[in-house]
Amino acid sequence: MVRKKILVTGGAGFVGSHLCERLLNEGNEVYCLDNFFTGQKQNVVHLLDNPFFELIRHDVTAPFFIETDEIYNLACPASPVHYQYNPIKTMKTSVMGAVNMLGLAKRVGAKILQASTSEVYGDPLVHPQKETYWGHVNPIGDRACYDEGKRSAETLFVNYHKQNNVNIKIIRIFNTYGPKMHPNDGRVVSNFIVQALQNHDITVYGKGNQTRSFQYVDDLVEGMIRLMNSRDGFTGPVNVGNPNEFTILELAQKVIELTGSKSKIIYKPLPSDDPMQRQPDISLAKKELDWEPKIQLEEGLIKTIAFFKKIV
Ligand code: NAD
Ligand code: UDP
Repeated sequence: MVRKKILVTGGAGFVGSHLCERLLNEGNEVYCLDNFFTGQKQNVVHLLDNPFFELIRHDVTAPFFIETDEIYNLACPASPVHYQYNPIKTMKTSVMGAVNMLGLAKRVGAKILQASTSEVYGDPLVHPQKETYWGHVNPIGDRACYDEGKRSAETLFVNYHKQNNVNIKIIRIFNTYGPKMHPNDGRVVSNFIVQALQNHDITVYGKGNQTRSFQYVDDLVEGMIRLMNSRDGFTGPVNVGNPNEFTILELAQKVIELTGSKSKIIYKPLPSDDPMQRQPDISLAKKELDWEPKIQLEEGLIKTIAFFKKIV
């Protein structure tokens, strides 16, 4: 077996920590880089005894050098609450982080995967969203620091590929949830579960008729690894998400049912530019990666609730 050296930026975050664990279990050497803005050492503390795991405190807006075969570039806050806290920093993280990691990939000849997002489609006018759709993003809105940062990162990836022949892979991730989300993450699944477990009001923004398609984290990690190992010349972008679409109100009701909570649903103002609908077309992932999600919402919520019961 070949032990690959793999750098995971944002490796102490929610998705990154699952990815690090899986890559280590597959016999690789993993360098987990993080500035701990939204990630935590706690997420990877159980990996620290493994001699093939290294935790590095570093900010991707500064250059970084290491000998590595593959780079998964995940560093970037993903929750609207956190990415809007310091929008300039968010944009720097996406853009300068991409430049620094692409420069590293070019220098050491590493393959590099960018964690892009369904947010590149903005508030989509096409439904479900295919990779060929260019999106509907407000460039000066509250979500722009994240959406445009990720769009710019895709542009940088594609141009490093065309101009410098860097081996790139771009994954467009749709809403993902699971154990190890931070209880104060602010995204909808963790918010609702934490509220339900404490019998607090469940905060639905707007009327709750906006939709999202929720993917369990293990399905995402499988998709990321399949993309990294996909055939030469396949760069993506490729959608990875669960096409089963739910309204936010349906999600709230499901969480109440599965937790047996006494919580009431209350309504709060809808944040600006909140996308009304989101559903991935995953035909490209099926064709190129032979991938489709295995874990449906109820099963995934049960696992996630079990995690939050231990920490809330
Ligand atoms: P997260 O906030 O839990 O993880 C992001 C990680 O990046 C954290 O550990 C954070 O500390 C780190 N980070 C942030 N800025 C950094 C910087 N400048 N330098 C170094 N590290 C930095 O979010 P997540 O859900 O795990 O998301 C991981 C990646 O996947 C992100 O790039 C996100 O945009 C993308 N993504 C996630 C989802 C989802 O639903 N989870 C959807 C689409 C895209
Ligand atoms: N949302 C909500 N209550 C919450 C948190 C989020 O109703 O406590 C809504 C939010 O307005 C959005 C959807 O849930 O319509 C998903 O929000 P999230 O922040 O998880 O991710 P997004 O897909 O908007 O980036």
